[in-house]
Amino acid sequence: MTRVYNFAAGPAAIPEWVLKKAQAEMLDYHGSGMSVMEMSHRSAEFKEIIDNAKASLRRLMNIPEDYDILFLQGGGSTQFFMVALNLLQNGADIIDTGQWTKKAIKEQKKIGYVHVAASSKEDNYTYIPKIKQEDLDPKTDYVYICENNTIFGTKYKQLPPHDGKLLVADLSSCICSEPVDVTKYDLIFAGAQKNMGPAGVTIVILKKELLDRADQDKLPSMLSYKVHAEKDSMFNTPPTWGIYMVGLTCQWLEEVIGGLENMEKINQRKAKKLYDYIDNSKLYTNNVNKEDRSLMNVPFVTGDDELDKKFVAEAKKAGIANIKGHRSVGGMRASIYNAVTEEAVDYLIDFMKKFEKENA
Ligand SMILES: *Cc1c(COP(=O)(O)O)cnc(C)c1O
Repeated sequence: MTRVYNFAAGPAAIPEWVLKKAQAEMLDYHGSGMSVMEMSHRSAEFKEIIDNAKASLRRLMNIPEDYDILFLQGGGSTQFFMVALNLLQNGADIIDTGQWTKKAIKEQKKIGYVHVAASSKEDNYTYIPKIKQEDLDPKTDYVYICENNTIFGTKYKQLPPHDGKLLVADLSSCICSEPVDVTKYDLIFAGAQKNMGPAGVTIVILKKELLDRADQDKLPSMLSYKVHAEKDSMFNTPPTWGIYMVGLTCQWLEEVIGGLENMEKINQRKAKKLYDYIDNSKLYTNNVNKEDRSLMNVPFVTGDDELDKKFVAEAKKAGIANIKGHRSVGGMRASIYNAVTEEAVDYLIDFMKKFEKENA
């Protein structure tokens, strides 16, 4: 068996420890005689799985008791409008930092008033706009951000001002990559397929007091946070396998990595190595404003489309998978999520050096 060095943006690499544990438990989960995929979501075994996943995430992220944790379906793309259906009364202030906020703006406009407080579009989203309270529309209910921009490789290092407003954040591509102060947010959501497990489950962390904001008579049950919270994420059949894998990923973060402080140190080391090499190289450039650089997604180009293509093809032959950049940025992108080891980053840098030498 050969496993590649996988730099996929999502679905993305999963820690080998998690895959092996899932493999060991695949046919007979804890003496139940069946796989997690085959068991009732109402069974005692599954109740333990979901309770443990939630408790582990709560410990890891230090989520206070006045926040609920939900495991939903429909991806980040459902949250783009579910957030508005549940929270928007007078309007939303959205900061446009690329593809994922563009989509959120489009969806939330279908539900209510949207004010785009700032955008880095004119510079192809290579930086995070710094906003002041005055840039916000006084009448909106919340400020909405995408904290880590998966495609463009930017990341908020400081949250925007939002006095008198709620803060809603899409953490799909940075959740659990570092400790965060959950109390600074009112709602966090994240699809699991970048840092937390397989596609098909979305984590929502929200203040319990927000559950009563929407008129429940007008809200389809599946789109109501309150309904999912009251039913402990089991209003309907939940994505049981995904929740199990999120639980294993949390267990790995707690027991193998030793928590998010450690994870952050590892991630910073990985990212620093890669950025330092790119910045000192004569062939590669990363166009992102240095102070806004992502720890998780590192886009880079050679400046020559043909050479970029050659890089991707030769990398593939060398066992480096999914390094091609997003079509809107071009070039290459190394997604170095939690599950991507320091060894994988070293291997990539060695390959980049060799390629640079051969193509200088
Ligand atoms: C991947 C991603 C999404 C979209 O998730 P889907 O599961 O495809 O709906 C949303 N936001 C961010 C930041 C992402 O990286």
